[in-house]
Amino acid sequence: LSERLGGVFDRLTKQGSLSDEDVKTALREVRVALLEADVSLPVARDFVKAVQDKATGQAVTKSITPGQQVVKIVHDALIDTLTGEGEPGALKIDNAPAPILMVGLQGGGKTTTTAKLAKRLKDREGKRVLMASLDVNRPAAMEQLAILGKQIGVDTLPIVKGEDPVAIAKRAKTQASMGGYDVYMLDTAGRLSIDEELMQQVEAVRNVANPRETLLVVDGLTGQDAVHTAQNFDDRIGITGVVLTRMDGDGRGGAALSMRAVTGKPIKFVGLGEKMDALETFEPERIAGRILGMGDIVALVEKAQETIEAEQAEKMMKRMAKGQFNMNDLRMQLEQMIKMGGMQGMMGMMPGMGKMAKQVEEAGFDDKILKQQIAMIQSMTKKERAAPQILQASRKKRIARGSGMEVSELNKLLKMHRQMSDMMKKMGKMGKGGMLKQAMK
Ligand code: GDP
Ligand code: MG
Repeated sequence: LSERLGGVFDRLTKQGSLSDEDVKTALREVRVALLEADVSLPVARDFVKAVQDKATGQAVTKSITPGQQVVKIVHDALIDTLTGEGEPGALKIDNAPAPILMVGLQGGGKTTTTAKLAKRLKDREGKRVLMASLDVNRPAAMEQLAILGKQIGVDTLPIVKGEDPVAIAKRAKTQASMGGYDVYMLDTAGRLSIDEELMQQVEAVRNVANPRETLLVVDGLTGQDAVHTAQNFDDRIGITGVVLTRMDGDGRGGAALSMRAVTGKPIKFVGLGEKMDALETFEPERIAGRILGMGDIVALVEKAQETIEAEQAEKMMKRMAKGQFNMNDLRMQLEQMIKMGGMQGMMGMMPGMGKMAKQVEEAGFDDKILKQQIAMIQSMTKKERAAPQILQASRKKRIARGSGMEVSELNKLLKMHRQMSDMMKKMGKMGKGGMLKQAMK
């Protein structure tokens, strides 16, 4: 994926700005690349669409290339899709004893993950955990869990020969209640592929245990298959989260994106090895970086954006203190506002402003208006932006036409600029003469 995108973005790099056509061309390639990274077709399609909407109309940060900018946009959109609600890695395990059901195909890493998670709950949260193996078809699997339990210092339910999974689940529940455990974990049997018998068995166990969490354990290297597995288990059993194992391998992690998009269920943990502490909270940033394989560029763009913002803000502050506030400054402020979620977003954040945010919404003063105002400023010449007082009727008409707006709208914008500019001047004077000096005494 990395190489493919690299090629596409190199092509973009040579151009001056991020046009619609650039974005479209690049995203066609991104789509193919995602498919190669094992992201499923409908997911890749939706993803590309979302990115396209986001990228269109976005300004290109100075000092980085348009190609780099696209990488950042794709990366951010990946993180967006990968991010679930709530705190990553958090489990609902109040009301002791809380049952956790572990499901998945054979060899996916259920037993290993059961033990890893038990250890984590014990070590980090001080929970008393009981583990039970329900894998009656493979005695070795029950032994495996018992051995792991000893190794990590977590109790396992004693093995009783000839018991069926439902009986074991019931016994685990009783034992957990009587023994004062906080959590009991049920490690179910798997099959090489999904079949009716497996589903019925897991369903029966679920009905008995009524789990607080049902975690699907999936091999991160299985790609497309992982999506079918996730869909099937979610439809039949109802999962609350996913654990992606074998992420220490060189898989691209495309399965994470599809499973997340298809089931809507959060990916809670990733397995990063066979050792008992090789389990980590799922981090969307890390997986996104992996799917895209362009972490360096992303970091570069973030840095460039931060630097430029800081520089611009500082410049503007200096100009404002001198009472200078031209159309370029206003445009920057409008862009900043859009970034912060528009007028409504900004007011929503301020305490007591919720009501006003609603009025603003009703008045129709939203992102659209901010964008129209920016468009009008863009239609001005350099000279006009620096000194808007030179705007007479013919210039105004030209600007209005150029931005598809009415002259009356332009007048409103100019009035707003005058008012803001006056305010800045007053504040500047106060700063020099009175208030600042007063404050410093
Ligand atoms: P189960 O059949 O679903 O219970 O799978 P197991 O827990 O028995 O795991 C099958 C194999 O995968 C074992 O050899 C594990 O050590 C290995 N395994 C599990 N999780 C990981 C992981 O995150 N990384 C690696 N490299 N191996 C893992
Ligand atoms: Mg197992």
